[in-house]
Amino acid sequence: MKYVRIEGPRGPVWGVVKGEDVLTLKKAPYDGIEYDGGSQPLSGCRLLAPCEPTKIVCVGKNYAEHARELGAEPPGFPVLFIKAPNTLNRQQGAVHAPAFVRRLDYEGELAVVIKRRAKDVKAKDFADYVLGYTCLNDVTARDVQQHDGQWTRGKSMDGFCPVGPWVTDEVDPSKLKVETRLNGKPVQRGNTADFITGVPKLLEFITAAMTLEPGDVIATGTPAGIGPMVPGDTVEVDIEGVGVLVNHVI
Ligand code: MG
Repeated sequence: MKYVRIEGPRGPVWGVVKGEDVLTLKKAPYDGIEYDGGSQPLSGCRLLAPCEPTKIVCVGKNYAEHARELGAEPPGFPVLFIKAPNTLNRQQGAVHAPAFVRRLDYEGELAVVIKRRAKDVKAKDFADYVLGYTCLNDVTARDVQQHDGQWTRGKSMDGFCPVGPWVTDEVDPSKLKVETRLNGKPVQRGNTADFITGVPKLLEFITAAMTLEPGDVIATGTPAGIGPMVPGDTVEVDIEGVGVLVNHVI
């Protein structure tokens, strides 16, 4: 299934994509699907981020080639950091950095959306806790990240985490092509088969330390090819079998 969250007349509404239409739901799909009988054309919907995270748990350097381009050796374990919920952004949403930011980077990533409360999950059980997969751009103020020596300010500015266009449970996260395009030109090409730590073990590692809630997001790391964006640019994160997340830098 493909789950979307759309803007309705009385606030956000969840739905399921069926062909060209969205069949709307009574409530979020985390603990089952209840249709409300409504339907509308997908093309007319304003898509919102398809998740409501209490936290976005990100993995740094999960592709060896990306670690090397940052001048680091691949770490022997998943290096985690958090993007705060104020970073959440949507399909076609504007990405904007404060004026003091000198270098704003894209990082195309596969994201996992959690379905039910997860603590001490074993890798073999990971699928029971996953609603599905979506595209994410881990927008980063690279100069701020480097200046500060840790990542909170550079990674958690408002709107720095576009997610979408929907969540799908129809893909296998262990072998998906990930491509980022800047103004239509491919700038990152990776495959989740090259993850240092795959999704099942990531879920085990993260939930050994912290409880994940329904709607929480895991950003699985970006492949090599990170680079800057400037106002006027359009950035797309395209994941095989998932979809294309499109955002505009203003
Ligand atoms: Mg990242």
